[in-house]
Amino acid sequence: SLPIVAIIGRPNVGKSTLVNRFSKLQDAIVFDEPGVTRDRTYKPAFWGDRDFLVVDTGGLVFDDDTEFLPLIREQALAALAESSAAIFIVDGKEGLTTADEEIARWLRQQPVPVLLAVNKCESVEDGLTQAAEFWSLGIGEPFPVSGIHGSGTGELMDALLTHL
Ligand code: GDP
Ligand code: MG
Repeated sequence: SLPIVAIIGRPNVGKSTLVNRFSKLQDAIVFDEPGVTRDRTYKPAFWGDRDFLVVDTGGLVFDDDTEFLPLIREQALAALAESSAAIFIVDGKEGLTTADEEIARWLRQQPVPVLLAVNKCESVEDGLTQAAEFWSLGIGEPFPVSGIHGSGTGELMDALLTHL
């Protein structure tokens, strides 16, 4: 069966835009496979000659700035449990937020390799500066990317494949 990659991040950071960059289909589909939970949507995706499935966890929403809504957290946990790796997407235009720090704190406790994508970095030079502050999340190297332009996604995907 194909490896699964979970997409994690707040609403509006550009999860759907990025996923559409490397998916084969524009519409999410639900696989009817034993062992695959039915209520999450999986998109077939590829990079180079590698195929995998992407599951968009739908956006981690907080009831205030410090706590996940329990249902959302349960859904994200269920997605992570079956994933070989996760991509944590943050918004490089908006910069680091308290919610990002909470998500990072939670992600660091999960036994899944996490790639950190700093989206909305259209300019390569600005992107490196925008991305630098996200080192403090403790997730590792922040990859500046633009889901709209496609810049930086190659480096991110190459790093992802080492975990699949
Ligand atoms: P999601 O809620 O995380 O799935 O985010 P979406 O993919 O729906 O994008 C949210 C908003 O951010 C939309 O208005 C997108 O056009 C915008 N957006 C997404 N990716 C980029 C990007 O790389 N650069 C910029 N400037 N805007 C982006
Ligand atoms: Mg979306």
